[in-house]
Parts: sequence; structure tokens; C-alpha cells
Amino acid sequence: MELEKIPVGILGATGMVGQQYISLLNNHPWFEVRYAAASPRSAGKKYSEAVYGRWHIASNALAANYADHVGNIVVEDANDVSRAAAAFKKGNCSFVFSALEMSKDETSALEEEYAAAGIPVISNASAHRWTSDVPVLIAEINPDHADIIPIQKKKHGWERGFITVKPNCSIQSYMKPLHALAAAGYPARRLIVNTMQAVSGAGYPGVSSLDMIDNIVPYIGGEEEKSENEPLKIFGSIESGVFKNAELPQISAHCNRVPVVDGHTACISLEFDGKKPSLGEIKAIWAAYKGLPQDADFPSAPKQPIIYREENDRPQPRKDRDADKAMAVVIGRLRPCNVFDIRFTALSHNTVRGAAGGGILSAELLKYKGYL
Ligand code: NAP
Repeated sequence: MELEKIPVGILGATGMVGQQYISLLNNHPWFEVRYAAASPRSAGKKYSEAVYGRWHIASNALAANYADHVGNIVVEDANDVSRAAAAFKKGNCSFVFSALEMSKDETSALEEEYAAAGIPVISNASAHRWTSDVPVLIAEINPDHADIIPIQKKKHGWERGFITVKPNCSIQSYMKPLHALAAAGYPARRLIVNTMQAVSGAGYPGVSSLDMIDNIVPYIGGEEEKSENEPLKIFGSIESGVFKNAELPQISAHCNRVPVVDGHTACISLEFDGKKPSLGEIKAIWAAYKGLPQDADFPSAPKQPIIYREENDRPQPRKDRDADKAMAVVIGRLRPCNVFDIRFTALSHNTVRGAAGGGILSAELLKYKGYL
């Protein structure tokens, strides 16, 4: 007998990440999209009309990979929380994925309004990443951080609603490799990270073609600070009802926008904090790495969260970004470093693992833990 699916809503459903949510949730075994909201520009239109001519996901431009019933959903104004509350009452919106592109203050206030209205929010926006009782989840690394939710709800007087967030897409490729090494007794002390980030990371229409073709832009506003600081919260712990950051690793990031459509690549030089594993040990640690999503067999979990490629010219965005449903991290070029201990190249899909796929994996974790 098929279990009844949980009805979900997408805020920012018409954008780059919102479309990825719609696409990935097509035929999801646990969740079904029944509510969509975006800006007042899209509100009132059927979803199929709102994304007509700006659907970015299907590799075949003729195929719109969303279910018929989603195409017929009338898009609401995401600023009007009462519409989602009404949908919740009708059984059409049990929680929302937030993929809104608005100012930090607007996003932060709006997401809190949803939580106060009884609708849990799983957000891709950065607005709440530094809120002291909001978990920044990577399901393999810090599933226990979800356990701050009862504290957060109590503090705000929220009966049903709460907020969790996803970290920045730029850090996805190196967080799991670092976590695997730390869990095996080899934590990192210092890293220099050079990212080469895809244009889809800037949403649509994003960076102009005249800025991107035949070019590299060595600046992405706010991205270096996020890349350097978010890992410390993710590796941190809950103390006295708030998150306490880890002290290490110290990270120096250079974030660049490159003319790649999807897939953020990072070149990493790493110094260990103490004993140093051999290159062979590191590869074995990465190959054996698994977390709760794999142990509990979550629907969106990659079977092999870290894939190592031995070819000396991999990973490459075009060849490797879709590995294991675009949810795996692909690594290559592990070698000694002349300045630190080791260096390697890592890749992850920014709108899937780094955004919608990671958000869905968080929702699977929250359902598994009984929070949804
Ligand atoms: P996007 O393509 O620009 O889409 C933005 C969405 O927000 C659209 O649905 C848009 O609706 C809606 N929106 C814009 N202004 C609004 C307003 N005033 N009121 C209500 N809705 C509004 O952006 P994106 O790349 O999908 O990014 C969405 C969020 O995810 C951002 O916070 C971004 O930082 C984060 N993120 C993105 C990536 C990535 O790789 N792209 C990765 C991780 C996190 P209309 O279509 O009606 O304008």
C-alpha cells in the first residue's frame, strides 16, 4: 500500500533553485508539491505559465519535468503568509522549502512569519545562517544539530513552525571530505580554498553574458566570508540552547565566478591539526565515508557520498557534477602540498547538492527524526 505523501510548498518556486525543487520532488516517495509561491510578478498565474520560457532544468528543452498537477497550481504571493496558512488548513502545505531571492532582512522576517504561522521552513537563503538557534544542516555531517528545534520553538513560542537552513553552495564540495578526515582522527587546522563557481549559482538571469563569456570574475559578494565561517558553525555544537562554533579549521577562501553552467569546483590546500594520514589512508577514509542518510537509506541520499576519481584530469563539472543523482561530491588530484600537507580538487552540483537536493535531504532527515 502506498503511503500518503506529505504536502509541501515551495517559496521562490519559479527561480533557479525553486525549479530544481519542483523537478527533484517529481515522484518523490515522501513529499508532494501542492503549493507554490513567488514574487507578486508571478502570483495569480498557473505555475506552467509563470515558468513558461524560463524553465532551466530539463536537458531536453521540450520536456517540462514537473507533474501535470504542479503545472496547474496557481502561484501565490510569497509575501502573503495567510495564503500558505490557508493551504496548510486545507491539507496542501505541511511545510515549505524557501528559495527566495530577497534582501536578508526581508527574507529573515518573512521566514519567521511562516514559522509563527505554524509552517516549518527549510531555507536555502543565507538570512538565518547566523541566527544562534537555527541549525545549518548537512545531513551526513551534523544531523544532531536538528535537535535544537524544540529549543528554538519554545524560545519563540512557535507551536508547530521552525526554521532550518542549508549552508552556502560554495562549501559543499569540501565539507564532507573534511568531516570524513576529522571523524577518522585527522582534523584540519588550516585550509586555503580557491573556488570556481558556476553561473547558475547567481540565479537567473544572474551575471550578464558579457561579463562571463571569455572571462573569470574574481569576486562573488559575501561568498568568501560564508565559505570561511559557515564550516565552523556546522562543525560546532549545541551549548546552553545555542550553537557554539568550532575553533578550527581556519579557512582562507578565494571565490571566483567562472563560465560553467552548473557545478562548483574547489581547489584545496590543507594542513592537518596533528598527525597526518598517508594519501592511501585518506582515499580509504573517503571511500568508506557514510552518514545517517546512507545508513537510514533516505530517498535522496547518494549511495557513495564521496567519490574519488583516479584520472589526473578529474573532477570536471561537465563530466562529474551529476554523479549519484548530483548528490555526491567528486574528488580527484589528491597529492602532497609544498606549503601545507595535502591538496586536492573537489566538485559538487550547486543547485542540486548545494541547494534543492540538499534541502530535500534535510527534510528527509527532519521527517526521520520526527520533526516534520
Ligand atoms: P532566482 O533564480 O533569482 O529566483 C528567485 C525566486 O524568488 C523567484 O521565484 C522569484 O519570483 C522570487 N522572488 C524574487 N523577489 C521576490 C519578492 N520580492 N517577493 C517574493 N518572491 C520573490 O534565485 P535562486 O538562484 O533560485 O536563489 C534562491 C535562493 O537560494 C537565494 O536566497 C540564493 O542565495 C539561494 N541559493 C542559491 C543557489 C544556487 O546555486 N542558485 C545555491 C544555494 C542557495 P519571480 O520568479 O516571480 O520573480
